[in-house]
Amino acid sequence: MVNESAIFVRGLKKSYTSKANGSKDAVAGIDLDVSRGEIFAILGPNGAGKTTTVEILEGYRNRDGGEVKVLGQDPAKLGTDSWAWRNRIGIVLQSTNDSQDLSVAETVHHFANYYSNPRDPEAVIHEVGLTDKAMARIQTLSGGQRRRLDVALGIIGNPEILFLDEPTTGFDPEARRAFWDLIHKLRDEGTTILLTTHYLDEAEALADRVAVIVDGKILEVSTPENLGGRNTAKARISWLENGLKQEIESDSPAAEVVKLSSRFGGEVPELTVIRPSLEDIYLKMIGQV
Ligand code: ATP
Repeated sequence: MVNESAIFVRGLKKSYTSKANGSKDAVAGIDLDVSRGEIFAILGPNGAGKTTTVEILEGYRNRDGGEVKVLGQDPAKLGTDSWAWRNRIGIVLQSTNDSQDLSVAETVHHFANYYSNPRDPEAVIHEVGLTDKAMARIQTLSGGQRRRLDVALGIIGNPEILFLDEPTTGFDPEARRAFWDLIHKLRDEGTTILLTTHYLDEAEALADRVAVIVDGKILEVSTPENLGGRNTAKARISWLENGLKQEIESDSPAAEVVKLSSRFGGEVPELTVIRPSLEDIYLKMIGQV
Protein backbone atom coordinates (compact mmCIF):
# COMPACT_ATOMS: atom_id res chain seq x y z
CA MET A 1 0.00 0.00 0.00
CA VAL A 2 2.76 2.43 0.97
CA ASN A 3 4.63 2.04 -2.34
CA GLU A 4 1.51 2.07 -4.47
CA SER A 5 1.52 4.99 -6.89
CA ALA A 6 -1.14 7.65 -6.36
CA ILE A 7 -2.03 7.86 -10.05
CA PHE A 8 -1.36 5.23 -12.72
CA VAL A 9 -2.51 5.83 -16.30
CA ARG A 10 -1.74 3.79 -19.42
CA GLY A 11 -2.95 4.49 -22.95
CA LEU A 12 -5.76 6.82 -21.88
CA LYS A 13 -8.07 7.77 -24.75
CA LYS A 14 -11.10 9.99 -25.05
CA SER A 15 -12.75 11.45 -28.12
CA TYR A 16 -15.75 13.74 -28.51
CA THR A 17 -18.14 13.73 -31.40
CA SER A 18 -19.86 16.87 -32.62
CA LYS A 19 -21.88 17.68 -35.74
CA ALA A 20 -19.49 20.50 -36.66
CA ASN A 21 -16.17 18.64 -36.24
CA GLY A 22 -17.08 14.95 -36.35
CA SER A 23 -15.02 12.81 -33.96
CA LYS A 24 -12.04 14.49 -32.31
CA ASP A 25 -9.40 12.86 -30.09
CA ALA A 26 -9.21 15.05 -26.98
CA VAL A 27 -6.91 12.57 -25.24
CA ALA A 28 -4.95 10.37 -27.62
CA GLY A 29 -3.06 7.77 -25.57
CA ILE A 30 -1.61 9.22 -22.39
CA ASP A 31 0.60 7.46 -19.81
CA LEU A 32 1.11 9.00 -16.36
CA ASP A 33 2.66 7.89 -13.08
CA VAL A 34 2.33 10.15 -10.06
CA SER A 35 3.96 9.03 -6.83
CA ARG A 36 2.47 9.51 -3.40
CA GLY A 37 3.49 12.83 -1.91
CA GLU A 38 4.43 14.29 -5.28
CA ILE A 39 3.26 17.63 -6.74
CA PHE A 40 2.67 16.99 -10.43
CA ALA A 41 1.65 19.72 -12.89
CA ILE A 42 0.02 19.25 -16.28
CA LEU A 43 0.84 22.05 -18.72
CA GLY A 44 -0.55 22.59 -22.19
CA PRO A 45 -2.30 25.14 -24.41
CA ASN A 46 -6.09 25.67 -24.42
CA GLY A 47 -7.85 22.58 -25.68
CA ALA A 48 -4.82 20.29 -25.17
CA GLY A 49 -6.84 17.78 -23.14
CA LYS A 50 -5.83 18.67 -19.58
CA THR A 51 -9.30 19.05 -18.07
CA THR A 52 -10.58 15.96 -19.88
CA THR A 53 -7.68 13.93 -18.44
CA VAL A 54 -8.11 15.29 -14.92
CA GLU A 55 -11.89 14.81 -14.93
CA ILE A 56 -11.46 11.18 -16.02
CA LEU A 57 -9.08 10.69 -13.08
CA GLU A 58 -11.66 12.32 -10.78
CA GLY A 59 -14.36 9.93 -12.02
CA TYR A 60 -16.39 12.75 -13.61
CA ARG A 61 -15.95 11.71 -17.26
CA ASN A 62 -15.95 8.33 -18.97
CA ARG A 63 -12.97 7.26 -21.03
CA ASP A 64 -12.93 5.42 -24.34
CA GLY A 65 -9.82 3.39 -23.67
CA GLY A 66 -6.80 2.77 -21.47
CA GLU A 67 -6.15 1.86 -17.88
CA VAL A 68 -6.60 4.24 -14.92
CA LYS A 69 -5.92 3.73 -11.22
CA VAL A 70 -6.26 6.52 -8.65
CA LEU A 71 -5.33 5.46 -5.12
CA GLY A 72 -5.43 1.91 -6.42
CA GLN A 73 -8.95 2.07 -7.83
CA ASP A 74 -10.44 2.58 -11.26
CA PRO A 75 -12.60 5.75 -10.99
CA ALA A 76 -14.95 4.34 -13.64
CA LYS A 77 -15.61 1.15 -11.65
CA LEU A 78 -16.15 2.27 -8.08
CA GLY A 79 -19.57 0.77 -7.43
CA THR A 80 -20.20 0.58 -3.70
CA ASP A 81 -16.65 1.84 -3.01
CA SER A 82 -17.58 5.27 -4.40
CA TRP A 83 -18.07 7.07 -1.10
CA ALA A 84 -14.95 5.53 0.50
CA TRP A 85 -12.86 6.59 -2.52
CA ARG A 86 -14.33 10.12 -2.74
CA ASN A 87 -13.64 10.48 0.99
CA ARG A 88 -9.91 10.19 0.17
CA ILE A 89 -9.74 12.73 -2.66
CA GLY A 90 -10.19 16.50 -2.90
CA ILE A 91 -11.18 18.36 -6.03
CA VAL A 92 -11.01 21.98 -7.15
CA LEU A 93 -12.83 22.19 -10.47
CA GLN A 94 -12.49 25.04 -12.98
CA SER A 95 -15.87 26.35 -11.85
CA THR A 96 -18.25 25.27 -9.12
CA ASN A 97 -21.91 25.98 -8.60
CA ASP A 98 -23.23 25.94 -5.09
CA SER A 99 -25.74 27.70 -2.98
CA GLN A 100 -25.06 31.42 -3.36
CA ASP A 101 -27.19 32.29 -0.33
CA LEU A 102 -25.01 30.46 2.18
CA SER A 103 -22.12 32.16 3.93
CA VAL A 104 -18.49 31.07 3.51
CA ALA A 105 -18.45 29.51 6.98
CA GLU A 106 -21.78 27.71 6.46
CA THR A 107 -20.57 26.29 3.15
CA VAL A 108 -17.24 25.06 4.52
CA HIS A 109 -18.95 23.51 7.60
CA HIS A 110 -21.55 21.92 5.34
CA PHE A 111 -18.89 20.31 3.11
CA ALA A 112 -16.94 19.12 6.17
CA ASN A 113 -19.93 16.90 7.01
CA TYR A 114 -19.41 14.89 3.83
CA TYR A 115 -16.07 13.51 5.04
CA SER A 116 -15.08 11.05 7.75
CA ASN A 117 -11.95 12.93 8.85
CA PRO A 118 -12.35 16.59 7.85
CA ARG A 119 -9.93 19.40 8.63
CA ASP A 120 -11.07 22.08 11.06
CA PRO A 121 -13.35 24.45 9.05
CA GLU A 122 -12.14 27.61 10.83
CA ALA A 123 -8.50 26.65 10.23
CA VAL A 124 -9.21 25.99 6.54
CA ILE A 125 -11.01 29.33 6.14
CA HIS A 126 -7.98 30.99 7.73
CA GLU A 127 -5.53 29.06 5.53
CA VAL A 128 -7.20 30.29 2.33
CA GLY A 129 -7.30 33.87 3.65
CA LEU A 130 -11.09 34.19 4.01
CA THR A 131 -11.40 34.77 7.78
CA ASP A 132 -12.60 38.34 7.18
CA LYS A 133 -15.24 37.00 4.78
CA ALA A 134 -16.39 34.03 6.88
CA MET A 135 -19.86 35.53 7.41
CA ALA A 136 -20.23 36.91 3.87
CA ARG A 137 -22.72 35.30 1.46
CA ILE A 138 -21.06 33.55 -1.48
CA GLN A 139 -22.84 35.80 -3.97
CA THR A 140 -21.02 38.83 -2.53
CA LEU A 141 -17.50 37.41 -2.98
CA SER A 142 -15.11 38.70 -5.62
CA GLY A 143 -13.86 36.27 -8.30
CA GLY A 144 -10.58 35.67 -6.47
CA GLN A 145 -12.32 35.21 -3.10
CA ARG A 146 -14.74 32.75 -4.72
CA ARG A 147 -11.74 30.81 -6.04
CA ARG A 148 -10.23 30.73 -2.55
CA LEU A 149 -13.47 29.20 -1.30
CA ASP A 150 -13.19 26.54 -4.03
CA VAL A 151 -9.72 25.71 -2.71
CA ALA A 152 -11.10 25.53 0.86
CA LEU A 153 -13.78 23.06 -0.28
CA GLY A 154 -11.12 21.00 -2.06
CA ILE A 155 -9.01 20.55 1.08
CA ILE A 156 -11.70 20.43 3.80
CA GLY A 157 -11.94 16.62 3.57
CA ASN A 158 -8.23 16.22 4.42
CA PRO A 159 -7.62 14.40 1.12
CA GLU A 160 -4.80 11.97 0.32
CA ILE A 161 -4.80 13.31 -3.21
CA LEU A 162 -5.85 16.78 -4.30
CA PHE A 163 -6.84 17.68 -7.88
CA LEU A 164 -6.53 21.36 -8.76
CA ASP A 165 -7.71 22.57 -12.17
CA GLU A 166 -6.27 26.07 -12.74
CA PRO A 167 -6.56 26.83 -9.02
CA THR A 168 -5.21 30.38 -8.92
CA THR A 169 -7.09 31.95 -11.82
CA GLY A 170 -8.20 35.37 -10.58
CA PHE A 171 -5.90 35.42 -7.54
CA ASP A 172 -3.96 38.58 -6.79
CA PRO A 173 -0.16 38.09 -6.41
CA GLU A 174 -0.35 37.97 -2.61
CA ALA A 175 -3.10 35.33 -2.68
CA ARG A 176 -1.09 33.26 -5.15
CA ARG A 177 1.97 33.28 -2.87
CA ALA A 178 -0.23 32.33 0.10
CA PHE A 179 -1.78 29.53 -1.98
CA TRP A 180 1.67 28.23 -2.94
CA ASP A 181 2.65 28.15 0.76
CA LEU A 182 -0.54 26.21 1.50
CA ILE A 183 0.19 23.67 -1.25
CA HIS A 184 3.74 23.16 0.06
CA LYS A 185 2.34 22.66 3.55
CA LEU A 186 -0.16 20.06 2.28
CA ARG A 187 2.62 18.27 0.41
CA ASP A 188 4.79 18.29 3.56
CA GLU A 189 1.87 16.60 5.32
CA GLY A 190 1.96 13.86 2.65
CA THR A 191 -0.82 14.99 0.27
CA THR A 192 -0.34 14.09 -3.40
CA ILE A 193 -1.24 17.02 -5.65
CA LEU A 194 -2.12 17.02 -9.35
CA LEU A 195 -2.63 20.46 -10.82
CA THR A 196 -3.20 22.04 -14.19
CA THR A 197 -2.04 25.58 -14.67
CA HIS A 198 -1.31 28.13 -17.37
CA TYR A 199 1.13 29.93 -15.08
CA LEU A 200 4.66 28.71 -15.70
CA ASP A 201 5.98 30.42 -12.57
CA GLU A 202 3.35 28.49 -10.59
CA ALA A 203 4.50 25.18 -12.11
CA GLU A 204 8.10 26.11 -11.33
CA ALA A 205 7.33 27.14 -7.75
CA LEU A 206 5.21 24.09 -6.96
CA ALA A 207 5.83 21.08 -9.15
CA ASP A 208 8.26 18.23 -8.54
CA ARG A 209 7.53 17.15 -12.12
CA VAL A 210 5.57 18.56 -15.04
CA ALA A 211 3.96 16.93 -18.08
CA VAL A 212 3.45 18.96 -21.26
CA ILE A 213 0.35 17.92 -23.21
CA VAL A 214 -0.38 19.07 -26.75
CA ASP A 215 -3.24 17.73 -28.91
CA GLY A 216 -4.05 15.04 -26.37
CA LYS A 217 -0.51 13.60 -26.29
CA ILE A 218 2.31 13.98 -23.78
CA LEU A 219 5.35 15.67 -25.29
CA GLU A 220 7.56 15.27 -22.22
CA VAL A 221 7.50 14.55 -18.50
CA SER A 222 10.36 16.08 -16.54
CA THR A 223 11.35 18.26 -13.60
CA PRO A 224 10.83 22.00 -14.22
CA GLU A 225 14.63 22.39 -14.13
CA ASN A 226 15.31 19.81 -16.85
CA LEU A 227 12.29 20.20 -19.16
CA GLY A 228 13.22 20.46 -22.84
CA GLY A 229 16.96 20.29 -22.04
CA ARG A 230 16.69 23.50 -20.04
CA ASN A 231 19.50 22.48 -17.68
CA THR A 232 21.96 22.16 -20.57
CA ALA A 233 20.70 25.08 -22.65
CA LYS A 234 23.16 27.83 -23.49
CA ALA A 235 23.24 30.88 -21.23
CA ARG A 236 22.77 34.36 -22.71
CA ILE A 237 25.33 36.90 -21.48
CA SER A 238 24.74 40.57 -22.11
CA TRP A 239 26.59 43.74 -21.14
CA LEU A 240 26.97 47.38 -22.18
CA GLU A 241 30.01 48.41 -24.21
CA ASN A 242 30.62 51.76 -25.93
CA GLY A 243 26.97 52.63 -25.26
CA LEU A 244 25.68 49.50 -27.06
CA LYS A 245 24.16 46.33 -25.64
CA GLN A 246 26.33 43.30 -26.50
CA GLU A 247 25.02 39.73 -26.31
CA ILE A 248 26.57 36.26 -26.69
CA GLU A 249 25.39 32.71 -26.00
CA SER A 250 27.68 30.28 -24.23
CA ASP A 251 27.90 26.79 -22.71
CA SER A 252 30.47 28.10 -20.21
CA PRO A 253 29.15 31.47 -18.98
CA ALA A 254 31.47 31.64 -15.96
CA ALA A 255 34.56 31.52 -18.20
CA GLU A 256 33.06 34.22 -20.45
CA VAL A 257 32.35 36.44 -17.46
CA VAL A 258 35.94 36.02 -16.20
CA LYS A 259 37.23 37.02 -19.66
CA LEU A 260 34.93 40.04 -19.80
CA SER A 261 35.86 41.09 -16.29
CA SER A 262 39.57 41.01 -17.07
CA ARG A 263 38.98 42.93 -20.33
CA PHE A 264 37.06 45.64 -18.42
CA GLY A 265 39.55 45.56 -15.52
CA GLY A 266 36.79 44.79 -12.97
CA GLU A 267 33.05 45.37 -13.08
CA VAL A 268 31.32 44.78 -16.42
CA PRO A 269 28.62 47.43 -17.09
CA GLU A 270 25.01 46.10 -16.95
CA LEU A 271 26.18 42.46 -16.93
CA THR A 272 23.43 39.81 -17.01
CA VAL A 273 23.67 36.03 -17.37
CA ILE A 274 20.34 34.36 -18.17
CA ARG A 275 19.36 30.74 -18.71
CA PRO A 276 16.08 30.13 -20.57
CA SER A 277 13.06 30.32 -18.28
CA LEU A 278 10.53 27.50 -18.02
CA GLU A 279 8.22 29.72 -20.08
CA ASP A 280 10.86 30.12 -22.85
CA ILE A 281 11.33 26.34 -23.01
CA TYR A 282 7.60 25.60 -22.82
CA LEU A 283 6.70 28.03 -25.63
CA LYS A 284 9.43 26.49 -27.80
CA MET A 285 8.11 22.99 -27.08
CA ILE A 286 4.53 23.82 -28.02
CA GLY A 287 5.75 25.60 -31.15
CA GLN A 288 4.86 29.14 -30.17
CA VAL A 289 8.33 30.65 -30.69
P1 ATP B 1 -8.09 24.70 -21.31
O1 ATP B 1 -6.65 25.03 -21.06
O2 ATP B 1 -8.71 25.65 -22.28
O3 ATP B 1 -8.89 24.47 -20.07
P2 ATP B 1 -7.84 21.80 -21.74
O4 ATP B 1 -6.43 21.41 -22.03
O5 ATP B 1 -8.32 21.58 -20.37
O6 ATP B 1 -8.08 23.31 -22.18
P3 ATP B 1 -10.06 20.15 -22.60
O7 ATP B 1 -11.12 20.96 -21.91
O8 ATP B 1 -9.72 18.83 -22.01
O9 ATP B 1 -8.73 21.01 -22.80
O10 ATP B 1 -10.53 19.96 -24.10
C1 ATP B 1 -9.81 19.14 -25.03
C2 ATP B 1 -10.55 19.13 -26.35
O11 ATP B 1 -11.80 18.45 -26.21
C3 ATP B 1 -10.90 20.52 -26.87
O12 ATP B 1 -10.77 20.50 -28.28
C4 ATP B 1 -12.35 20.71 -26.48
O13 ATP B 1 -13.02 21.53 -27.42
C5 ATP B 1 -12.88 19.28 -26.54
N1 ATP B 1 -13.96 19.06 -25.54
C6 ATP B 1 -13.83 19.16 -24.19
N2 ATP B 1 -15.00 18.85 -23.60
C7 ATP B 1 -15.88 18.56 -24.58
C8 ATP B 1 -17.25 18.16 -24.60
N3 ATP B 1 -17.95 17.99 -23.48
N4 ATP B 1 -17.83 17.95 -25.82
C9 ATP B 1 -17.13 18.09 -26.96
N5 ATP B 1 -15.83 18.45 -27.01
C10 ATP B 1 -15.21 18.69 -25.85
